[in-house]
Amino acid sequence: CVPDTTNLCSNQFLATPTIIPYRLDPSHITSPFQTLSLDGYLSFDNNHHTAKDFGNIYHFQPSAVLYPKSVFDISCIIKLIFEMGSGSELTVAARGHGHSLQGQAQAHRGIVISMESLEGSPKMQVHIGKRPYVDVSGGELWINILHETLKHGLAPKSWTDYLHLTVGGTLSNAGISGQAFRHGPQINNVYQLEVVTGKGDIITCSEKKNADLFYAVLGGLGQFGIITKARISLQSAPKMVKWIRVLYSDFSLFSKDQELLISSANSFDYIEGFVIINRTGLLNSWRSSFNPKDPIQASQFSSDGKTLYCLEMAKYYNPDETDVMDQRTEILLSGLQYIPSTLFTSEVSFVNFLDRVHLSERKLREKGLWDVPHPWINLLIPKSKIHEFAEEVFGKILTDNINGPILMYPVNKTKWNNNTSLVTPDEDVFYLVAFLSSVVPSSTGTDGFDKILTLNRRILQYSATANLGIKQYLPHYRTQGEWRAHFGSRWKVFLQRKSSYDPLAILAPGQRIFKKAA
Ligand code: FAD
Repeated sequence: CVPDTTNLCSNQFLATPTIIPYRLDPSHITSPFQTLSLDGYLSFDNNHHTAKDFGNIYHFQPSAVLYPKSVFDISCIIKLIFEMGSGSELTVAARGHGHSLQGQAQAHRGIVISMESLEGSPKMQVHIGKRPYVDVSGGELWINILHETLKHGLAPKSWTDYLHLTVGGTLSNAGISGQAFRHGPQINNVYQLEVVTGKGDIITCSEKKNADLFYAVLGGLGQFGIITKARISLQSAPKMVKWIRVLYSDFSLFSKDQELLISSANSFDYIEGFVIINRTGLLNSWRSSFNPKDPIQASQFSSDGKTLYCLEMAKYYNPDETDVMDQRTEILLSGLQYIPSTLFTSEVSFVNFLDRVHLSERKLREKGLWDVPHPWINLLIPKSKIHEFAEEVFGKILTDNINGPILMYPVNKTKWNNNTSLVTPDEDVFYLVAFLSSVVPSSTGTDGFDKILTLNRRILQYSATANLGIKQYLPHYRTQGEWRAHFGSRWKVFLQRKSSYDPLAILAPGQRIFKKAA
């Protein structure tokens, strides 16, 4: 049985914010579920929060929300829906922290599973030894894992920039940050998973056991199963981080230095970068958290009207290793070609470094600027095409700042596992480029949402037509043709895995890859 892909949701919602009105028809959902004996519970009203996500553009109202207290609750609900067969239109979306951008964790008239209710079930267990790891629930937030593992002097190796995301949510995508050049993304740093498939089966999988399901689920956009437990690899954690920023006005020098740093075994522990377009008083704004190496020169530097490239690096250390760390950092910096007056450094605790975006979140929340629409796009671009891309996008399409950061950094694919469902460009080194715009409440018409969408469309159109081998990360497409093109030669395997693990296309309808036949 192959899931129906012909009737793929070609939706009209891509460009416009959409609210689907709440249309609860209790008879189509409550009766079959009334007899279930659950450890948690099903809620049929006040579920509007599950029709929202961080993107704040798509709003699909579910019929019910499951607050599970055990893996059996999840299995029980999915089994029941599976047994109803294709006669029922019910679908199921696992919702982690709801930080998707385009409704990926929503289920129109379906059942949303609030994975955070599973948090602490089982209790986090850190295993020390030669190959340390932590066992966590799929609904656990990464910030909680950091705090728990640090009690043992350990921490996960690979992160996202923001830690208030769930394990299941990031493992369904990849989990990419400045450590990925060395350790691969988060999906490369998992030893074992417990998964509930689209048939309701509870299966433990790893590289050695049920490997096909293991790799399918990692980066699998929630299509093959719900991650209820994960075993995450750990390493010793440093106490402190030296955090460094430098600027370039020449893109070639910037990317050359980034590529040099990620290729060296004895490099920084974290390497990212961002593009800055026409920012006033940029270096002054850094002074609240960073110290300029040369304060006088730095105060004379003007960023106005320019396109600049910031290389961001971090070196981990313990307080008794400060001198060695300083020497190593000096050596690494001496090989780079940044603008000398723009060297800024800061020493922060490991926790504050990893949780840095949360600090910005707090400030934005205070100003009412966190829960605004976020029309973000994330692209993976082959190294050989990055200059072409930069020339067109930073030289022609974007002439002003986009109301949010533009991240840009290379990663080393040789450190990534090719068996997962994640699709990346076909080169050993590729760049993550993320356009992270916010629509601020005062902006209207062409100054706000419309303007950002137009720019996004131009970037995406250019990426698709210029034949640069670019892949979307956190992908979002309208048509089956686009999904097929995204997966390329891997589409066949993706389809096979879907028919093995979720033949009725019950799971993660918000990704809009498959539509449940009803
Ligand atoms: P949700 O949005 O709740 O779910 C995402 C998808 O995964 C949905 O399809 C959902 O159905 C599915 N899903 C959720 N839980 C499970 C589960 N247990 N089992 C199976 N499927 C599940 N990403 C990066 O890689 N690097 C970054 O640095 C980064 N920074 C970010 C910063 C911010 C501020 C935000 C908002 C997002 C960032 N992201 C980053 C993207 C983020 O990793 C994804 O959006 C992720 O899916 C969010 O996790 P979540 O727990 O909110 O998932």
